Amino acid sequence: MASSTSMAAKHLASAALRLPPLPSTSDLVKLYKLRAIKQLSQNFLMDAKLTSKIVRSCGRVRRCHVCEVGPGPGSITRSILEQGAEHLTVIEKDPRFLPLLELLQEACGKRLDVQLGDVMTYNMEKLFPEDLAQPWDGQLPKIHLIGNLPFNIATPLIIRWLKDISLQQNAWRYGRVRMTLTFQREVAERMIALPGGPQRCRLSIMCQNWCTVDHKFTIPGRAFVPKPDVDVGVVHFVPRIEPQIPLDFWLVEKVIRCVFSFRQKYSKRGASLLFPLSIREEMVKKMYTVGDVDPTLKPYELTVPEFNRLCHAYAAMVERTPSLARFNAREQKLSICDFDNLLEYEGQTS
Ligand code: SAM
Repeated sequence: MASSTSMAAKHLASAALRLPPLPSTSDLVKLYKLRAIKQLSQNFLMDAKLTSKIVRSCGRVRRCHVCEVGPGPGSITRSILEQGAEHLTVIEKDPRFLPLLELLQEACGKRLDVQLGDVMTYNMEKLFPEDLAQPWDGQLPKIHLIGNLPFNIATPLIIRWLKDISLQQNAWRYGRVRMTLTFQREVAERMIALPGGPQRCRLSIMCQNWCTVDHKFTIPGRAFVPKPDVDVGVVHFVPRIEPQIPLDFWLVEKVIRCVFSFRQKYSKRGASLLFPLSIREEMVKKMYTVGDVDPTLKPYELTVPEFNRLCHAYAAMVERTPSLARFNAREQKLSICDFDNLLEYEGQTS
């Protein structure tokens, strides 16, 4: 008896989550004459099986709070609601989609909140209920970020969010919030690339340093309307409790950027850009000696632990000579005299 009561309760609960019959997203797009705007790189996914697969790849969204970025006409939005998210906020830049999203809002009651805004500047510090917050080293909070954004936004956005993860700010004030985002397939492959492979690049180290990264599956370009020239990778990110390089975001970013400046040369060639010309040779030698890294490895051959040791060696130099942090080889902003004493000092401490 008890089990049939609980089954009935479960049935009622799942019926409450089901959306009432609605016209399909593609019919609504036609009805509202919504043409994809090329300048906004809009490509819509109308196949409910695929949108449902994207949402399932997040892990369980049931009873979780979700923020979807770039909902467009709302096909992924529907899948998130149908899979039982307790609450969903969508952030969309293009006001033409508001009537469609409001239709969904009417269908699901208070579970959906529609925000017109730019995700690149949107602050999620107060977006979720306080009681969802978890300690950074505790359980993953019941919060998910999901998005099928234009490719030109997706990569700058993940870099911005990695910085926020490093500072435990924005959505990551609530703990290690998971993200499931789409990228051009080649970019997704770079994000998970291991040392030595042709795809290994700056983005591989940046993503893998602050998150565990999983390329869940690939969606063929033909599944989108209009069809993009490339296939699309769905990537899941879980922030690490401790980054593999536990140093300031901008310092790590700078070292990785410089090292990868000359992909096919010895990595010491790019690393030398961290130092003014007059002291370059000695400093880079010291950095590799202290870091115990072979300077003749190519940038794409270096492991994250090797980057960790190089970053720590560079951080120690910056600590001794803070003006070094402001040196930018491309702009040669600082005068050499800022570093006058550096070699002498490094000589004394080696
Ligand atoms: N999610 C929908 C789908 O899968 O069919 C739409 C995907 S379309 C590739 C990207 C969506 O992101 C568009 O609706 C576009 O207007 C929106 N968008 C683009 N830049 C944005 C930004 N900076 N902030 C919020 N939304 C943005």
